[in-house]
Amino acid sequence: MKNNLVIQIFLAFIVAIVLGAIVGPGIKIVQPLGDLFLRLIMFIIVPLVLSSLVVGVASTGDLKKLGQLSVKTVGYYLLTTAIAISIGLFIGSVFSPGEGLDIPVSAEQQVESKEAPGIIDTLLNIVPTNPIASLVEGNMLQIIFFAIFLGLGITMLGGNGKVVYSFFEQMAEVMYKITGIVMRFAPVGVFGLVAPTVGEYGLSVLLPLLKVILALAIGCFIHAIIVYSISVKAFGKMSPITFFKGIAPAIFVAFSTSSSAGTLPVTIKCTEENLKIPREISSFVLPLGATINMNGTALYLGVCALFVAQFFGIDLTFTQQVTVVLTATLASIGTAGVPSAGLIMLTMVMTSVGLPLEGIALLAGVDRILDMIRTTVNVMGDAAAAVVVSGNEKNDEDHTQKNDQTSITA
Ligand code: ASP
Repeated sequence: MKNNLVIQIFLAFIVAIVLGAIVGPGIKIVQPLGDLFLRLIMFIIVPLVLSSLVVGVASTGDLKKLGQLSVKTVGYYLLTTAIAISIGLFIGSVFSPGEGLDIPVSAEQQVESKEAPGIIDTLLNIVPTNPIASLVEGNMLQIIFFAIFLGLGITMLGGNGKVVYSFFEQMAEVMYKITGIVMRFAPVGVFGLVAPTVGEYGLSVLLPLLKVILALAIGCFIHAIIVYSISVKAFGKMSPITFFKGIAPAIFVAFSTSSSAGTLPVTIKCTEENLKIPREISSFVLPLGATINMNGTALYLGVCALFVAQFFGIDLTFTQQVTVVLTATLASIGTAGVPSAGLIMLTMVMTSVGLPLEGIALLAGVDRILDMIRTTVNVMGDAAAAVVVSGNEKNDEDHTQKNDQTSITA
């Protein structure tokens, strides 16, 4: 992606903040520009994920390799999620954002708790009964499942599957081109999304909860700088600066849209073009990540569970904190990559340790801001995983090649 575009997006971002702050709620008039951009990137997702993943699988065409790829990817996701929640709990106890707050909460502000679906049902639900319906509904895990089997089927057909393969290959190319066209509109879109948000949130809304916003921002910053820098350097042999610079457009889009699913086309484009991650890896790791890997949301769940506990003067015991880590891991996996999904999942975490659900009402008022911060880290986490898995795969290949050579010379 051209440097020029990144600069334009950055400038649009700054202008949006300044104008939003000056004009106030009246800036909402530019919202349709943002919504248009959002719709434009959303319409790319389903055909892009389907076609690029089919091509990814069909070009490796090896079930064993795919299994290894899944284990590495999911392992990395779970590990970084647990680290994120722990950072959230740590920052939450150091900052104590919920202490000494005087905000009235009424009992009517109860929020319904969401029943978490059972693990077996969740797993079964990955298998689509009608893949066309999965495409229509945009059910990402089912689409991934369908695409993997299409890819395998094409490989097993060998030469006979050539036409279908070429179709998906060209479809993927076309979708990348469309992403490129839509991205030219990104500066206007980012402006249209950020300015109304800044205009809408006056200082009076933000100030009482400034501490929790800051706690989340600092936690996310620490997680991004430490965990992602170390992992891309150690496993992907990539300089963290190259990494963050390469995914800058995706960072801006994630921040403005608050949706990691919506940002997916941009994330894929950035990792492929700027970070040079092979398509078979990015088209597998990234859609999966946008659906199940939410480091920012996990961190948010940790910070906010503590925030609510502090607000109501409840001390969480060590066992309760461990319960928060476990339920928040599951909750973040179950969170959809759409705006505000994390807020609903917070009810699940709070119920697991018996915190009063009225606390949600406190946070709902500033959720958009919290969402922008956590979504940015969600997307960075997916991109970091692509770098880590790709570096690891390369290492494995080098090893195999070396072993092959030694056995040949021996
Ligand atoms: N908006 C987040 C995302 O799309 C999910 C959340 O609400 O935490 O990644």
